[in-house]
Amino acid sequence: MIGLISATAAGAVARDRLAAAWPDRTRVYDGPVGDAVRRAFAECEQLVCFLATGAVVRLIAPLLGDKAGDPGVVCVDEGGRFAVALVGGHGGGANELARETGELLGAEPVVTTATDAVGLPGLDLLGLPVEGDVAGVSRALLDGEPVALRAEVAWPLPPLRAGAEGAYAIRVTDRLVEPAEREVVLRPPSLVVGVGASRGAPVEEVLGLVERVLGEAGLSRASLAELATVDAKAGEPGIVEAAARLGVPLVAHCAERLAAVEVPNPSDAPLAAVGTPSVAEAAALVRGGELLVPKRKSQRPDGRPAMATCAVVRRPGRGRLAVVGLGPGARDLLTPRARAELQRASVLVGLDQYVDQIRDLLRPGTRVVESGLGAEEERARTAVEEAREGRAVALIGSGDAGVYAMASPALAEARDDIDVVGVPGVTAALAAAAVLGAPLGHDHASVSLSDLHTPWEVIERRVRAAAEADFVVTFYNPRSRGRDWQLPEALAILAGHRGPTTPVGVVRNASRPDESVRLTTLGALDPATVDMMTVVTVGNTATREVAGRMVTPRGYRWQERPGTREGTE
Ligand code: SAH
Repeated sequence: MIGLISATAAGAVARDRLAAAWPDRTRVYDGPVGDAVRRAFAECEQLVCFLATGAVVRLIAPLLGDKAGDPGVVCVDEGGRFAVALVGGHGGGANELARETGELLGAEPVVTTATDAVGLPGLDLLGLPVEGDVAGVSRALLDGEPVALRAEVAWPLPPLRAGAEGAYAIRVTDRLVEPAEREVVLRPPSLVVGVGASRGAPVEEVLGLVERVLGEAGLSRASLAELATVDAKAGEPGIVEAAARLGVPLVAHCAERLAAVEVPNPSDAPLAAVGTPSVAEAAALVRGGELLVPKRKSQRPDGRPAMATCAVVRRPGRGRLAVVGLGPGARDLLTPRARAELQRASVLVGLDQYVDQIRDLLRPGTRVVESGLGAEEERARTAVEEAREGRAVALIGSGDAGVYAMASPALAEARDDIDVVGVPGVTAALAAAAVLGAPLGHDHASVSLSDLHTPWEVIERRVRAAAEADFVVTFYNPRSRGRDWQLPEALAILAGHRGPTTPVGVVRNASRPDESVRLTTLGALDPATVDMMTVVTVGNTATREVAGRMVTPRGYRWQERPGTREGTE
């Protein structure tokens, strides 16, 4: 809950805007300001105070405890010009709240915590459990003091500006170690615990076994990635509940697959019961890795036979390949998720002109592998190879990276040994459609006219099919200096099925500074005005020009009112 406190009429207006925008997240604290702040501080996770920072500092000073437990506090000035993250920037989420509040009120967010300000990842924001001297090591990283990176477990980290030696250290481990002074310990999700249990095994027995085995092996619970078992036990309440209490997913594998895994301690009992000679060891090992703890049995307080078994595996480190679409060009059409992935990567792979488009967003220390036009296969291979080395890689493409772009050559190379994350982008057809009006209001197709990768006969067949089926068609790669006859041919095929007054939109450099838009017709389009920076969208037989915009009605409209087809045939 976010507590809202104001003192003046102007403050109350801004406060009410926030309360109206976030009705479920906010609570207004009325009455004398000092009292309101104290109550909100005790009851809420976050506060937005429409008060001077000085007043708030004095009021909360006696209430402050520690960074982890205190609420995040944001102050908004009387004029509504600034939203200041006062305390709890990271832990209390005040930085993020200042940004959100600023966006809503049109105020400038003021964020002063160092790591956020200069684009270094906050060590506590990597998505991994972290222990130790986060503030000290973050400050050292920021000040450029040497920080040693000691990775005992492979994990795809973002660039951290850390080297081999240093007075400060970042340790990446799943072992149960106490962070030393000036050290942070990051816990990658590297451990898989395979579990087996007989019917009705109590959750305490399963959970107790897992925790005891991890503890005795000197392994950290914070690095537990998942529990794994056999299909037949996927609904066993003791196992399901143990996973829930540990806060990890339960992954089930089929018995045939487990039976094929070579294990040190097979036995006959599970073979008869569920069809595999090993559950715990096989489920832990099925996706590879190193067996750290072979099968162990639970101990029952009443001395009766054990009902649960488990085994622990350290899974192989997996690299991370993010395939990121940058959108058509404009910075505000780059999605927040794409931006986050660009900053998550330690290696960026892409065409030089696209790299230039986002270079300012990269974190210091990001390694950039750029290449020129045409080197597609090589770029795809490089990206996959870098990820297989265990790194965090972003492979970028304009528009959507999966549309006539890098995603398919990359994933055709990739095997099951890396994690792949796709981030969709606004593809050229959509960027162009938005400036043209609503040309894609009904069924549509995209066709690339580049016959570098596809024989012309295939392209021609597809254009013909689209023409016959009356699809709105967007041509990508429509025309280049050495490739000028394909567009006229494709247009001629469409003209065989739709009239010369059919609207055609020609959009060059959509969303880029030199964007240009032309609305013409199938009969009047001069192909010589089209180049490789352009998409051409040809309407179907129902598409019309309305007030200078290109509009394709939804199908049911013209079926109800056949008159709307006039003039297009
Ligand atoms: N992955 C890209 C397409 C790559 S193919 C996407 O999803 O948009 C390259 C072709 O896309 C260009 O020849 C051009 O036809 C089209 N294109 C890409 N960006 C464009 C833009 N901003 N404006 C107009 N056309 C564009």
